[in-house]
Amino acid sequence: MSRKHGKGSQAPYSPAGHSLSTGPYAPSELAIIYSSEFDYISRCILDYPDIETGGQLFGFWTAEGVPVVLYAIGPGRYANHQATFFNQDIDYLKTVGQAIIDRFGLQHIGEWHSHHHLGLDHPSGHDASTMATSIEHLDLHRFLLCIGTCAGGRSTINPYNFHESDLYNYSYARWRVLSIDSPFRALIDSSLADILVHPYTRTASHGAERIEDGTPEQIRPMYTQHYWLRDKANNLQLKKIVDFLAASTGSMPSVRMDEAGRVSVYADTATGEQVEVFFPDGFPTEAPEITLPESYRVQAAQVPVGDALMPMARDFWESDGDIAESFRLCYERLRGVLPPPLDIPEQPEAEHETKKLAEPEPTEPTADAPDEKNSQPSV
Ligand SMILES: [Zn+2]
Repeated sequence: MSRKHGKGSQAPYSPAGHSLSTGPYAPSELAIIYSSEFDYISRCILDYPDIETGGQLFGFWTAEGVPVVLYAIGPGRYANHQATFFNQDIDYLKTVGQAIIDRFGLQHIGEWHSHHHLGLDHPSGHDASTMATSIEHLDLHRFLLCIGTCAGGRSTINPYNFHESDLYNYSYARWRVLSIDSPFRALIDSSLADILVHPYTRTASHGAERIEDGTPEQIRPMYTQHYWLRDKANNLQLKKIVDFLAASTGSMPSVRMDEAGRVSVYADTATGEQVEVFFPDGFPTEAPEITLPESYRVQAAQVPVGDALMPMARDFWESDGDIAESFRLCYERLRGVLPPPLDIPEQPEAEHETKKLAEPEPTEPTADAPDEKNSQPSV
């Protein structure tokens, strides 16, 4: 059956934002997996917390050489699980693997095994040489090896891409976990129901996997890339702010971090209400968000604008100078203890001034901050 095409040829559609520079001639820095398979491997690992286990991965390679895991299997009934090695049940692999390849058109793209709590979260020397030999002898071109670990009731599985161009220089790849189930999961599970062996563990529990941007909170670094507290000197400023809030409210404030790595400080007032301070991503260029109970205000703060408007910290925020001192002034103005500032700095000037606060050591431009405005013209 042929479909009639329009006249002329059209450039292939290339979606933006998902390309990788490595290309097909080097081990990919990325591995794609559907969440059903990501979870399936986790459940398999959790079945064997103290001993090696493993299985095979089926799917495709993209044109750029990125593996896409569409279906994972675990150990067959007669697999050999030992403390320091795992051998798959060969009959199981042959029967199931062949059916997956023949009936569902997937390819055998990789393997996974768990080093349980051996403390080795990457391929062992033996794993790497086995991969190199296999790629060479079986003419595989590339292979995805995933290494798992198990600790504290959580499994961690990370991808390593091997490529024929450089057999011993495999990549520590990152996962792109697609949030949907693989369309092959239900299909193959039901078609091969009489031969498949599934994990006993019902629920996946993931650890600290390497995930590309949009990292889950448990492996997110303490603070996001440009957050003010990434600068160690600013931790002293936060301490000063907390001390100030303690003195102001008469209670010990608590400091909490949200899942995006941003910090809030809470302090109870004498009336049992709460003062809440939130430091947004743009702080200190951007004002903190300060929520004060009405009873805690000395008098209605004088805001230059509107009558019905609730005064906000940003109405009083001056981002130049010492951060803790700026905070104190802003807070006391919001409470009505201090009058509003006489001259509110103009926007561009404020932005310029806070550079000193946010980036105290402007040495060379960093690769992760390609900001044209900040880069120095070479002379
Ligand atoms: Zn191993």
